Amino acid sequence: MSLAFVQKHAKPLKKITILGATGSIGRSTEAVIDGAPGVFEVVAVANGSDALGLARVARVLGAKFAAIADPAAYAELKAALAGSGIEAAAGPEALKQAACMESDLVVGAIAGAAGVEPTFAAIEAGRDVALANKECLVCAGEPFMRKARELGVRVLPMDSEHNAIFQALGGESADRIEKMWLTASGGPFREWSAERIAAATPEQALIHPNWAMGPKVTVDSASLMNKGLELIEAMHIFGIEANRLDVLVHPQSIVHGLVSFADGAVTAGMAVPDMKTPIAHCLGWPDRVTTRVRRLDLAQIGALTFEKPDFARFPALRVAMDALAAGGAMPTILNAANEVMVAAFLDKLIGFNEIASRVEAICELFEREGAHRAPPDVASALGVDHIVRERARASLEGLSR
Ligand code: NDP
Ligand code: MG
Repeated sequence: MSLAFVQKHAKPLKKITILGATGSIGRSTEAVIDGAPGVFEVVAVANGSDALGLARVARVLGAKFAAIADPAAYAELKAALAGSGIEAAAGPEALKQAACMESDLVVGAIAGAAGVEPTFAAIEAGRDVALANKECLVCAGEPFMRKARELGVRVLPMDSEHNAIFQALGGESADRIEKMWLTASGGPFREWSAERIAAATPEQALIHPNWAMGPKVTVDSASLMNKGLELIEAMHIFGIEANRLDVLVHPQSIVHGLVSFADGAVTAGMAVPDMKTPIAHCLGWPDRVTTRVRRLDLAQIGALTFEKPDFARFPALRVAMDALAAGGAMPTILNAANEVMVAAFLDKLIGFNEIASRVEAICELFEREGAHRAPPDVASALGVDHIVRERARASLEGLSR
C-alpha cells in the first residue's frame, strides 16, 4: 500500500478539548489519549489555577490553546508555554473560548458548579460533550439538556455509573426500562458505626477504598451525597423519573449500573474501577479505543455483593433524594450548599455529619422562603447557586478550626 493511499483512507483524527485537564479525570483522559496514538488531536485544554500543570499537559498533548480561569495565573502560564507555539489565555471568557473551539468532543471535567458556564458554552456552540462534571446537571440540568436537544448536541455520560448504564441500555430508549440502579461502593465509612462516622476527619474521608479522585467527589463518596447527585444526573441524562431510580451498595465496584426491562431482563455495565474505561468509551464512541486498563477477572474476584444503602448512617443520600423528589430549584440549592459545606469540612470548620445536616437546613430554609420554581435557564440557575452559596457561607461565620 502506498503512503498516499494510507493517508487518503486514514480516519481523520478526532478533535478533543479538555476542560479540567489538570484534575483526576483530566489526567486519566491524557493517559487514554496518550495510549491511543494516531486517534486523537487535542485542540484546547483548560483548568482553574495550576499554570504549570496546564502548560505541561498542553505541551504533552500538543494542544493549540490553553485557557486558565484565574487571571492572576496568566503570566506564569504564558512563561511556561514560551517557545511552544501554544496560545495562552486567562479568565472566564478564555475558558468559554476554549470550550467553543472547533472540536468533535469537549470533555467536561471541571470540578463543581465552576464547570457550568464553560460546559454550557460548548453545548451552545454545538459541540458534543463527554460529561464527568455531574454538578452541571445537578445545578442546571433542565436548561442544559433542553439546549442540547434543541441543537442536536450529544451529552455522553463519562461518570462511571451513567456510562455503564448507557452501555447496558445498548441503544434502547430509557422509556422502555422499568428500573435503573446506580451502584455505590459505600465509601471508606461503609462499615463504620454512626459514632465513628460523626468523628471522621478529612484525612479519613479522603481515602477512598476503590477510586482515586479529586477531593470534592471523594468526600461526596464518603457521605454518599455523590450517589444522590448522581441520581439527579441520571434523571437528566436519561430523561427518567425519580421513582424508577434506585441505589445499590456494591463494595467491589465492578458492576457500576443496571437496568431492568418489562420482560424481566436485567442488563448491567461492568468493568474494573478505573475511570480510563468510561473515559475511553466516551472518547471513542461510537468506536472503541484500546486501553491498558487491567482486565476484569471475575473468577479471581469470586463474589460480587449488593446491599441497600443505610440512610441512618448516611443521611446525605436521603437529603439528596428529597431534593430530587422536590424538584424545582431544590437540586440547584442542594448542590451549592453541599459544595460550601464540603469545603468547610475540608477546612476543618465543621464535622463530617454536619455536611448533611447543614445542607438539609439550607434546603429547608429556601423551601420555607418559597424557592420552588425550577430555574428556567442556566443564568437563573447560577443566580440561585450564587445566593445559596452566600447564605451557606454566612451560616459558617464565626466558626474556626
Ligand atoms: P479534581 O479536583 O481532580 O480536578 C478538577 C479540575 O477542575 C482541575 O483541572 C481544576 O484545575 C479544574 N478547576 C477547578 N476549579 C476551576 C474553575 N473555577 N474553573 C476552571 N477549572 C477549574 O476533580 P476530578 O477530576 O476528580 O473531578 C472532576 C469532575 O468529574 C467532578 O465534577 C467530579 O464529580 C466528576 N467525576 C470525577 C470522577 C473521578 O474519578 N475523579 C468520577 C466521576 C465523576 P486546577 O488543577 O487548576 O485546580
Ligand atoms: Mg460516579
